[in-house]
Amino acid sequence: ESFAGLGVDPLLCRHITDKLGFEQPTLIQKASIATLLDPLHPDAIIQAQTGSGKTLAFLLPILHGLVRSAARQATHATTQHMFARDAGTFAIVLAPTRELAHQISDVLDSLLKYSLHDAQTVIDAALDAQGVPPHKRPTVMYRHWIVSSLVTGGEKKKSEKARLRKGVNILVCTPGRLLDHLKSTDAFDVGNLRWLVLDEADNLLHLGFEETLRETLKLLDVKRKLAVNNRRRTHVPGWPKNRQTILCSATIVAGVKKLAEYALVNPHFIRA
Ligand code: AMP
Repeated sequence: ESFAGLGVDPLLCRHITDKLGFEQPTLIQKASIATLLDPLHPDAIIQAQTGSGKTLAFLLPILHGLVRSAARQATHATTQHMFARDAGTFAIVLAPTRELAHQISDVLDSLLKYSLHDAQTVIDAALDAQGVPPHKRPTVMYRHWIVSSLVTGGEKKKSEKARLRKGVNILVCTPGRLLDHLKSTDAFDVGNLRWLVLDEADNLLHLGFEETLRETLKLLDVKRKLAVNNRRRTHVPGWPKNRQTILCSATIVAGVKKLAEYALVNPHFIRA
């Protein structure tokens, strides 16, 4: 089975084969992607080892959702005003260590570089598919559509904060730093948060992040509700109401099960 056969958007499929050189999804990608792309966006526990291709197993469904959202916006009359930065953070990927966060961020950038960074590419692909002639297309007034960022406490908190305040759509981070930023009142906007990934959950717990994770989940919910109630949320067409939470772990030990119980809702259990 191909990436396209799993339902991944053609724009992304093209980049995966042409630029990354991956012809076939790995076993864990086959097992995860179709489930995660379900329009009901169910929560999922993915049991996978490092080296199995798990990073793309959770990143591709996120990017797919963003491409589709861009495609919907491209057909809107107000496309010129489509400016993802204003809509806050769509996805947060939490990793136990700086090294892993860096690796995830590198994979993410390799995908974004060829697709979602460039608004014109995304919009043209969407409008090509719909057969909209060039003279009827809106002019895009900015280049970088989806902005990603790595936050691991490796730099001064102040400069991290400035970066976050400008608007980061996909955030890859370590738990301590994320919580720090979430606690500050004027942190970044999570009113439109649609995906949360807990990568290497067994290692997150092993490193003592359980309490940090609990607090983070609580704060994310509180901040989201506040954003909704204050109507501060920038409207994103076709955005689902619920968050999709994805937990990855090499081993499903008791602690991971406990974490899954409060972090996820009716999760699908996926293994290759
Ligand atoms: P991960 O388990 O996500 O750390 O990925 C392990 C390695 O597999 C990385 O070097 C990826 O670049 C590579 N990889 C991921 N997906 C595929 C694929 N579909 N085909 C070939 N290699 C892949």
